[in-house]
Amino acid sequence: MQKNARSIRRGDVSGRAMKIPDFQAIPSGDRQTDQNEIDEPPSLSANLNNDGASDSGQPGLELLPVRPIKRPPSRILRKQFIFRSTPAEWNDWQWQLKNRIRSLDSLSQIVTLSQDEREALESNGEALPLAITPYYASLLDKTNPMHPLRRAVVPVKAELCRSFGEAEDPLGEDADSPVHGLVHRYPDRVLFLVTDFCSTYCRYCTRSRMVGRSSAEHSGGANWEAALSYIESNTAIRDVLLSGGDPLTLSDEAMEWLLSRLCRIPHVEIVRIGTKAPVVLPQRITPKLVKMLKRYHPLWINIHFMHPEEITPETSAACIRLADAGIPLGSQTVLLKEINDDVETMKRLFHGLLKIRVRPYYLYQCDPITGSGHFRTTVEKGLEIIKGLRGHTTGMAVPSFVIDAPGGGGKIPLLPEYVMGRYGDNILLKNYEELMFKYPDTSSKRRFEEGIY
Ligand code: SF4
Repeated sequence: MQKNARSIRRGDVSGRAMKIPDFQAIPSGDRQTDQNEIDEPPSLSANLNNDGASDSGQPGLELLPVRPIKRPPSRILRKQFIFRSTPAEWNDWQWQLKNRIRSLDSLSQIVTLSQDEREALESNGEALPLAITPYYASLLDKTNPMHPLRRAVVPVKAELCRSFGEAEDPLGEDADSPVHGLVHRYPDRVLFLVTDFCSTYCRYCTRSRMVGRSSAEHSGGANWEAALSYIESNTAIRDVLLSGGDPLTLSDEAMEWLLSRLCRIPHVEIVRIGTKAPVVLPQRITPKLVKMLKRYHPLWINIHFMHPEEITPETSAACIRLADAGIPLGSQTVLLKEINDDVETMKRLFHGLLKIRVRPYYLYQCDPITGSGHFRTTVEKGLEIIKGLRGHTTGMAVPSFVIDAPGGGGKIPLLPEYVMGRYGDNILLKNYEELMFKYPDTSSKRRFEEGIY
């Protein structure tokens, strides 16, 4: 009965044999991009003008109800010129993947590299590879190496140093992995690492030990069957989180194959996708992708946002397109030293997210991966930010501040001190203005009357 209901709700989940499709999202090097094959990109330029006129002059671009967001002065156009792309190419996600910045030489044409950045790139060796989409590169400050978005994706020498307490796999994910590519830590849910590929590599990535390591653009397909069998045979698993790498760099066909296989498993109630694609590759959120995703509800998407400058017209349009398909959107933000570690920056980020229908979900203390010392703040800094938000802004704009406990302890929430103690049958509380209040704690009163004390 339950299975039939799910079949109707969640796309093609018939029992016919399904072959893993080609999940290579990137055209081979010598293939010319055929514009007829390209999905229409999210109506990016159509949102830029208040009067509804399209910047590209192309007819038929969909106008979305996005509040106008000011873009940094002409950066996109400048970079578009540097890459010598047509507007159609720029708005094509496969063109963006094919033209990622992968080397010191290509990056030095986009920004003026500092000595530190240059030396880090020259001695990168076995470390996390460099990759930045042309779109995200267009948001980087050309001259300032301390620009928040630039620090997040351009390596510096500090990432080659190991500090106290750092490890390759600080969360102990490998130890909780019953089959390759699957982490089973909590009884009712699993993390399914479906690819090691990302369009853009974040220098503070928790999985820097494994992302971007395979020679193929995507790896993992061979392991999908083993992971799916494990999920099928463990009836306690009701929630599957697809992550990686970035699942939304897979082709539409590969994503649909995975989603439809998961939806055939009766005990899997929800599927979540963790992605940074709307932020670093918003062109990926095509109408065709969204039309496919909405066949697999209940589907949730958590997006990795880091800084308010990431909320551009392109990213806004991508998020609103997903939200319009009924997909609840959350954000996960890593607390990063001198990038986003102050109340005002976080407030701008979280307010901006609510405007594009993304609910701030988690604020993470940065994991102690090897080479992360220059990114990590004190835990007090995170508590100070939560204290500066709670009560001072909309409750929905305040995420849960968590530490993913080293060694595999899972997420542990942290809160500033609001409970100050007891006074008789009352509990003493401090509010956001540092004022004290008494709350009658009825259970302790009842226990008192029942003579338990
Ligand atoms: S997008 Fe996610 S998985 Fe990819 S490099 Fe960034 S943090 Fe790591």
